[in-house]
Amino acid sequence: MGLNVSASFRSDIFPGWTRFRHGAFQCTVVVDGPIHAGPPAQGFIGAEARELEKMLNDGFLPTDAITLSQNLLVVNTGEKLVLFDSGCGRNERFGLRHFGSQVGCLIPNLRAAGIAPEEIDLVVLTHAHPDHSWGLADDRGERLFPNARVAVSSVEVDYWTDLSRVESVEDEHRKDQFRGAAFNLAPYRDRLVFVSDRTEVVPGITAIATPGHSIGHHAYVIESEGRALIHWGDLSHHQIILLQRPDLGFVFDYDQEQAIATRVKMFNTIASDRTAVFACHFPFPGRGHLRRGGTGFDWIASPIEIS
Ligand SMILES: [Zn+2]
Repeated sequence: MGLNVSASFRSDIFPGWTRFRHGAFQCTVVVDGPIHAGPPAQGFIGAEARELEKMLNDGFLPTDAITLSQNLLVVNTGEKLVLFDSGCGRNERFGLRHFGSQVGCLIPNLRAAGIAPEEIDLVVLTHAHPDHSWGLADDRGERLFPNARVAVSSVEVDYWTDLSRVESVEDEHRKDQFRGAAFNLAPYRDRLVFVSDRTEVVPGITAIATPGHSIGHHAYVIESEGRALIHWGDLSHHQIILLQRPDLGFVFDYDQEQAIATRVKMFNTIASDRTAVFACHFPFPGRGHLRRGGTGFDWIASPIEIS
């Protein structure tokens, strides 16, 4: 008798979610879908292509192209339901056009996890780049999270919604970074909650200014029952390359030097304090720890648990 395995999921939705407990908080990780980021030397700045390929090969990963996971975190504090970042969205003009049809799976995967978009009280943005803010509005520019406020740095909003900057960049992707952020943030314009360093957005969740990758990038410390988990946004886009070589840049860094300085400082603190990490772009579900090793740090992934 042979195995009878059927592929039953819709191919246009990249499926996945899981759940874990952090102190008294219930946390859900939802897949938005992978970003195919092309050859490593296009993404990471400051190393030879063959050096990047060796790191990937040593990590048992393909050497010709980088794939970024997109893990989106929902924290139920018991009082508030908080979503961190919104993924790429499935807007024809933005997410699907620039990232292909596998992204923008947040809403169906949220529903699969038993969470309705209407229930989200607050969307916390680490920054307003496409893969973090383009999932806020639908094709018509309506709120996908109709009852949510959006917590974000005012510096970040001012920069990315300033459409006069469209003319200052060359390629369509960079132009759409401004247009897409403005389009997705517009329906929340009266619902913005501005954060800066050490702002407590809801009890137990505190912003940490971590500028560099974007002008107003913030990480968030999630604390419950004496335990800390840091959602570090885009402090690292890769679980090997930017951990082993935290001194490299990433192609979409706003200020590469500042991004590197912020990354190195945060990595050292996180490793010394043994703080648990939530990483958007690391392999699903993106939860783990940093340990000093090799030329930088190793990623020690935490096992999946359902609680
Ligand atoms: Zn990102």
